[in-house]
Amino acid sequence: MSLNRRFFIKSAFASTVLPVFTGCSINPATDRASFTAFYSIKDEIELGKEEHPKILQNFGGIYNDTKLQSYVDSIGKSLVGHTEFLEYPYSFTILNTPIVNALALPAGRVYITRGLLTLANNEAEMAGVLGHELGHVNARHITERLSQGKLTKYGLMAIGLIGGAKVAPYMDVAQFGMAAYLKAFSRKQEFEADKLGVRYMSKAGYDSKAMVSFLETLKEHSALQARMMGLPAGSIDKFDFMSTHPRTVKRVEAAIKASGEHSSSSCVLARNEYLKRINHMAFGQSRGEGTIKDKKFIHSAMRFEFTVPAGFTIHNEADKVSAVHDNGSAIIFDVSERTKSYDVTSYLRKEWLENKPISHIEDYHIDGFDSSSAMSKGEMNNKKVDIRFFAIDGGEQTVFRFTQITPEHKTMAMAESLKASARSFRRISAEEAAKVKPARLYIRKTNYSDSIANLSKSLPFKDFNEDFFRVLNNMKPDERLEIGKTIKIIQ
Ligand SMILES: [Zn+2]
Repeated sequence: MSLNRRFFIKSAFASTVLPVFTGCSINPATDRASFTAFYSIKDEIELGKEEHPKILQNFGGIYNDTKLQSYVDSIGKSLVGHTEFLEYPYSFTILNTPIVNALALPAGRVYITRGLLTLANNEAEMAGVLGHELGHVNARHITERLSQGKLTKYGLMAIGLIGGAKVAPYMDVAQFGMAAYLKAFSRKQEFEADKLGVRYMSKAGYDSKAMVSFLETLKEHSALQARMMGLPAGSIDKFDFMSTHPRTVKRVEAAIKASGEHSSSSCVLARNEYLKRINHMAFGQSRGEGTIKDKKFIHSAMRFEFTVPAGFTIHNEADKVSAVHDNGSAIIFDVSERTKSYDVTSYLRKEWLENKPISHIEDYHIDGFDSSSAMSKGEMNNKKVDIRFFAIDGGEQTVFRFTQITPEHKTMAMAESLKASARSFRRISAEEAAKVKPARLYIRKTNYSDSIANLSKSLPFKDFNEDFFRVLNNMKPDERLEIGKTIKIIQ
């Protein structure tokens, strides 16, 4: 959550682009008929322009490091010359989020997250990801999906709310996590993107085997994430690259073969160059956005914290913090402003919920601040839900807000822990805030006194620190630490 307080996200792809019928045509990248009806190249460019700010808002904005940005851009541009659609206005952006993913919009806007850059171990691995995204762009997969009406339906997933219509856009995004961009591509589309990606990276001189090595790292990382969250093996976070780009080593190897690129001159890995570039890169959440510590969310710049109940997983997004439970419950926290000089109770009834039917209005003091809560009923994803709203007076015109959603049959069981969660909200002192330091990634050479146990001590994953260190450095579970090896550490 950034300091940018008010931002209402429009449903993804609620496009104002006027459709032009272009029908089926043979795509030069895939050599097959591609159903991209309604979207011409010009439309794609418009769509990209329109969706760009939404991507930034939902994925932490642009990572503020011009040197690293221009490095990634230069690698991306070195691949672009080998693509089929040279008329697209390509751009490459690092998103300031620890989420591990990469995505692209029609017409060549490619995004790669800071979280993904953290895991890569050489330039070729990054080039492989950019190449894969350029593959989706040139095969016009996103446009294809859009033309089939699938994306639009997903993006506009119906959430009918009885009362509190104003919170609907938040819930849409919180529950489905920018579903339109994060929907998994099909196996066939992944194969095409890999084949094209291999072609682009090989022509630019990179060793295409890096696609396989990085897939191994991504696989290990998503498996570790599942273990950390106590989820069954094989479950993948929906925000993760492995979920939106489902691939297997076998299929990527087949794509390398099918690409017909066997040139022995394509062998650049550029490990040292890459590691040098990502040295000092931010790790995890950044200071202006707040930090997640297990079940606690701390915003050191805005000076507050709160805790979510057991079973919830916190996601820090650009304009809000959301926490989702496996049983379909969700918590959304955000900061808003009172436009009138209401007290919190009037604000909640008249401004936030705009006189919609509510019940169970209760007034509290939370951390000494006037607070008010009320309940309403709604529908989410065709299921009946109860919604509890909390407004906490943040002084002047600021209001801190919790929206807690529970499936009807879970409301009773969840009520106490959710109330306690809202009541855990408290302002923190300047000293407490100063203690929350954003972590950074550093590159250094190992020496004789290093051990994996020591080097991974500063990681925030407790029992999983050593496992994470191995994933970070692409080390097998039984691999021993070599002296004099360049490694990544987090401090
Ligand atoms: Zn993909």
